Parts: sequence; C-alpha cells; structure tokens
Amino acid sequence: MGWFSAEISTMHDLFLHGLQDIYYAEHQIEKSLPDMIKKASDAQLKKGFQMHLRQTKGQIKRLDRAFKLLKEKPKGTKCPAIDGIIDEANEIAGEIDDKVVLNAALIAAAQAVEHYEITRYGTLTAWAKAMGHSSVAKLLHANLNEEKATDKKLNTLAKSKINRKAIARKQKKPTRAEREAMMQATVGIPAI
Ligand code: FE
Ligand code: FE
Ligand code: FE
Repeated sequence: MGWFSAEISTMHDLFLHGLQDIYYAEHQIEKSLPDMIKKASDAQLKKGFQMHLRQTKGQIKRLDRAFKLLKEKPKGTKCPAIDGIIDEANEIAGEIDDKVVLNAALIAAAQAVEHYEITRYGTLTAWAKAMGHSSVAKLLHANLNEEKATDKKLNTLAKSKINRKAIARKQKKPTRAEREAMMQATVGIPAI
C-alpha cells in the first residue's frame, strides 16, 4: 500500500495502514534482536535485549488482538523506516571491532528503534481513542508504555556506565607490521 495511493481514503484506512506498518516493524525487530543479544558483551545490556525480545513477542500478540477487535486480518505492510534503522545499525556494528565501543553503538541503535515505535504507538493510540476503539487503544497504549520504559532503561544503562567505558577505550596501537605497511603506502606520494 503506497502512501498516496487511493487505497487509503478514510481515516479507518489510514489507521489500519498504521497498524500494519507497526505489525511489520515489530516482526523485523523480533528478527533482529537475537543478533543484538549476541553482539552485546555487557551482561545488563544483553539481559535487557533478552527481556525486550520477550516483550516484543507479547506486543505482536496484542496487535493480533487489536486486528481481531477491528475484525481485520492481522497483516504487515512494508515499513521502510524500520528497515532503514535496522540496516544502519547492522552497517555500523559491522565496522566496530572494539566490543566496548560496540555496546555504545548497540544502545544508540536500539534507542532509534524505540523512538520509532514510540512515535507510531503514540499516534495510533490517539487515533484509536478518537475513533472510539477504546479496547484497541488500551492494547496500543500498553505497547507504547513498554517501548517508553525500554528507552528509559537504555538511557540509564548508557549514562551509568556504557558510554563512559566506551569513551575510556584507547585507539588500538598499530603493530610493527601495520606501521611498516603504512610507511610503505606513503612512499611515493609526492610532496605538495
Ligand atoms: Fe515493540
Ligand atoms: Fe513505517
Ligand atoms: Fe521496542
């Protein structure tokens, strides 16, 4: 379903599109969290991601119930925003070899995900309420609260130790072989 296609003409269509968007996003998050758990070397961060994976599965169940209450079939629609956030996270993680610095990057990436979810659930909750779908609004609000709590926890973890530890890491000294390779690479470059 494209943003400006005629498939979205009423507020109900728009609301449904939003639900499908976050449904897709939650499934992508569910798929990417095991990798984040593997990459995190801080025990608390690892535990936090494990807990959020369990919560994510519960959030998907709430969305299933929301679709059911609306008498709609649960389905996802491609969300380029979450795909982009996850791609970017993987790209950056792939370029970091220091595990401690990687923890800081993982938190930053996870917070980007949470913020996307917070904005979507915020809007969807407001729309559900305004359209009189109070039971659906409650389910969406429960998800919203979990995302907010997760973001807060990540913030505390970053500020209490992970950022500090990452900043304290010194740049790895090049080995003799690497130094020689660098010297050789500079030979032959004419002085300007
Ligand atoms: Fe979620
Ligand atoms: Fe989206
Ligand atoms: Fe989340």
